Amino acid sequence: MYKSFRFSSILLLLAFIVISSCNTTTETQISDPKQYEYALVIHGGAGYATPEKLGSEGIEQYEQAMDSALHIGLDILKAGGSGIDAVENVIVLLENNPLFNAGIGAVLTSEGKVELDASIMSGLDLNAGAITGIQNVKNPIRAARAVMENSVHVMFSGNGATKFALTQDLEIVDQDYFFTEKSRKSLEKALKADKFGTVGCVALDKNGNLCAGTSTGGITNKKHGRVGDSPIIGAGTYAKNGVAGISCTGQGEFYIRIAAAHEIISLMDYKDLSVQEAAKEVIFEQLKPFDAKGGIICLDSNGKAAMEFNTSAMFRAYGNSDGEEIIKIFR
Ligand code: ASP
Repeated sequence: MYKSFRFSSILLLLAFIVISSCNTTTETQISDPKQYEYALVIHGGAGYATPEKLGSEGIEQYEQAMDSALHIGLDILKAGGSGIDAVENVIVLLENNPLFNAGIGAVLTSEGKVELDASIMSGLDLNAGAITGIQNVKNPIRAARAVMENSVHVMFSGNGATKFALTQDLEIVDQDYFFTEKSRKSLEKALKADKFGTVGCVALDKNGNLCAGTSTGGITNKKHGRVGDSPIIGAGTYAKNGVAGISCTGQGEFYIRIAAAHEIISLMDYKDLSVQEAAKEVIFEQLKPFDAKGGIICLDSNGKAAMEFNTSAMFRAYGNSDGEEIIKIFR
């Protein structure tokens, strides 16, 4: 009798230990989600690419480009480099690749020129820099960074932006540099349909700093002086430490109207939405009344990414300190 009482007490005690250890695990998981040491997310534009339109060679070219960009960024972060350096270098690589609508691959305006937009933001101190309508800087993201770091202003436009760029250590090129075969052809096609394609990157570095950047040629056949969301802090780009970093791509007019990038911050900060929930809300709910098309990439302060789009494709890549990597084009 005594023995069986002692045995059942031991069983009860064991059961209690098992149950309480299970509870502890659950609570730990909820209050302490996985924190990556560093992470990086990239987009190369959202649009209507299909496997048929791109072809296997095209798919391979885009995937290789995204892969190189991802590894340039991850290597910088792994070595303890800053999120700003990672974002700038990733975007420079994509700007130098004619596949993308940024830098050398930029689409043309209705007047057959290039007018480039770019922005960059540091989530540490909310410092930001942007340029719009610039025509002679090889890498607009570098100009945006120079505005952020070497001026008291946030944005320069047109000739003023070029004048500023000339005072910085930036590579200046002739307009001819941007006139690729692809940009000419896409201008011809543009009368039928607007094309998308922009590049963006968000990084979380080892110091917990979030940084975001976006660079674009805008929309094919855009009117002279037209400004999209990409160079607008709060519309196309935003970063705030402890919350998220964001870069958008799509029909900029609507991203400006809903302040898309900052809307992610608001939804996460004030409504406690996760990064995925916030990205879905912006892309599938808030853009819906306008029938606006595009995508968004976001990274939260744990290094978790959201990559949402309402088009058929978005060139995208993600990697983190655990060695997890994603490179995708279609759904
Ligand atoms: N958002 C860019 C703009 O409106 C275009 C794009 O991302 O494709 O200029």
